[in-house]
Amino acid sequence: MGDTDSERSPIIRHPDVQRMLLSMQSRIQAMRALSLYTAAAADRASHHPDAAEQARGQRAVDVLTPVVKGWGAEVGNDITGVALQVHGGMGYIEETGAAQHYRDARITTIYEGTTGIQAADLVGRKMLRDGGQMVGEVIETMRVETAAAASSTASDVQAVATVVARLIEKLAEATDWLLAAAGRDPRVPLAGSFSYLMLWGITAGGWQMAQAAVAARRCLDADEGDSAFYRAKLASCSHYASQVLPHGEAYASAIIDGGVSLENLDSLFA
Ligand SMILES: Cc1cc2nc3c(=O)[nH]c(=O)nc-3n(C[C@H](O)[C@H](O)[C@H](O)COP(=O)(O)OP(=O)(O)OC[C@H]3O[C@@H](n4cnc5c(N)ncnc54)[C@H](O)[C@@H]3O)c2cc1C
Repeated sequence: MGDTDSERSPIIRHPDVQRMLLSMQSRIQAMRALSLYTAAAADRASHHPDAAEQARGQRAVDVLTPVVKGWGAEVGNDITGVALQVHGGMGYIEETGAAQHYRDARITTIYEGTTGIQAADLVGRKMLRDGGQMVGEVIETMRVETAAAASSTASDVQAVATVVARLIEKLAEATDWLLAAAGRDPRVPLAGSFSYLMLWGITAGGWQMAQAAVAARRCLDADEGDSAFYRAKLASCSHYASQVLPHGEAYASAIIDGGVSLENLDSLFA
């Protein structure tokens, strides 16, 4: 700072700035992929010729809609904060435009249903109402597709999918914990609903990134398309697996290991 003799380097050369940029890129890609998957499921629900596939598509839409909205809005807020941070002081003032994005994103966790309402929808209407069947069906789809990716002979795909597969099991465990807790006290799943929503988003985003890694590796091996794009995609998937998925483990732990503390919340506000 203030050392005019030192060599000047652009901020993009700093490892921490590179980390911020990759954390933004990988999470945006995961959110976009999950949004598109959910939109495709909505198309199947409306137009698939097989009635059973229509119903299956609708169940996926029902589960994933609060995840796309709630997790997407929360992460979108975080990302606009990181974007401001990347620019330093210039991010805080108006000239870069980053601060405007930060302010604009802030409403997304409030209107069209607050995060709390999206989380309550996920645990209440989508999980508890049918004893976990609908969420279980989507978890099983994620499990099967991710297991196929984890058995890939390509080490980069396998590395991503193995971490995702572990988190899918944590999501299943957290679901079972909340279902059991609801039997003791129906308020407990609602107290854990935010962590459950975020765990869902990070895990389902990871599932989509594992699928993206499979596709990118296939195109690279077949020498198809823009190889630089596919190499960048694999790097992004790898970053998501090593730097974002561990946050999912923390949300799972907040539910499973920290869940007992949620059972006494009311007494603190008596
Ligand atoms: C800029 C802006 C534009 C808007 N545009 C529109 C619009 O075009 N059309 C429209 O209809 N509305 C619009 N709204 C209103 C918006 O939908 C509401 O602000 C939003 O639904 C939250 O309701 P509320 O403000 O009454 O907050 P409250 O419902 O009082 O929520 C306060 C807090 O309590 C939590 N909470 C409340 N109930 C529950 C529950 N059952 N379970 C868990 N947590 C709960 C919330 O998550 C929140 O954290 C707009 C709001 C703003 C600020």
